[in-house]
Amino acid sequence: MNRLAYLIVTLSTFTVTQAACSSDDDAAGEDETSTETGAEAGAESDSDDASTDGDTAFVDALLSGMWAEDISVSVETDTIVFSGDGYPNHDVLEAYALMDQSTIGVAASDTTFTIPRVPEYSETVTDTGLGTIGLAISGGVYFNPYEGDGTSVALDSNFDVGGIPFLDACNGHPLPTGSTYHYHGVPYCITDVVDTDGAHSSVIGVLLDGFPVYGPNGEDGSAETDLDECSGHDGPTPEFPDGIYHYHLMETSPYSVTCYHGVVDDAGGGMGPPPGELSLIHI
Ligand SMILES: [Zn+2]
Ligand SMILES: [Zn+2]
Repeated sequence: MNRLAYLIVTLSTFTVTQAACSSDDDAAGEDETSTETGAEAGAESDSDDASTDGDTAFVDALLSGMWAEDISVSVETDTIVFSGDGYPNHDVLEAYALMDQSTIGVAASDTTFTIPRVPEYSETVTDTGLGTIGLAISGGVYFNPYEGDGTSVALDSNFDVGGIPFLDACNGHPLPTGSTYHYHGVPYCITDVVDTDGAHSSVIGVLLDGFPVYGPNGEDGSAETDLDECSGHDGPTPEFPDGIYHYHLMETSPYSVTCYHGVVDDAGGGMGPPPGELSLIHI
């Protein structure tokens, strides 16, 4: 389907490589082409530092998922920066119900989402905050289970206004401003496309700590049951056959992820803005 086109893969080492080849037009041209067509270009340009091989393998595996074509990705020295317009690449409803009984449609959101280039597991967990906790391959984002009051579980609080629902069939909806289309549970419009019967779910995004997130299915294709307090576990996935710590969104409570088991940047922290001022932007 819509494989990520790796629109922008910028590695500082690539810049050096390109500059070094600038006296040879043909060689420089080949480097540019390979950079635009896949993350392998990054692997080739990392030849100056063997210790980054593992880093590149993580980036390649994460980006091998079916990311929306309009998500741009920039691989920096220590981070991976995603950007998009906030619209998911699947159908959304014309309108969504709001608590005040009004309705709102989905609006664009300038999205910049930064994760560590290599996620780091932490024995200490960090609660996920309100606001964006992860980026979906669709271009939408993930929230924890709760609405703006911090206690109402979105999936348990669904309602409608004249037949217009609060959450759609993808467990998603926008903020009351219309921006920041986000999921509070399994995004069925994504998992229905990427998951394979009888197999572990396929990657559906990444959380702020850099660890990937999946639909409900474990290795045998049925709902994973052996999960920690953050709805995660260590094991093989289609993109990481050698195993990686990863999260599962589940059809049962808590539906989404309530804590990170990876190190999260203090600046981003996963602690969203206060209720009423929710913003998509993770700085
Ligand atoms: Zn919500
Ligand atoms: Zn798993």
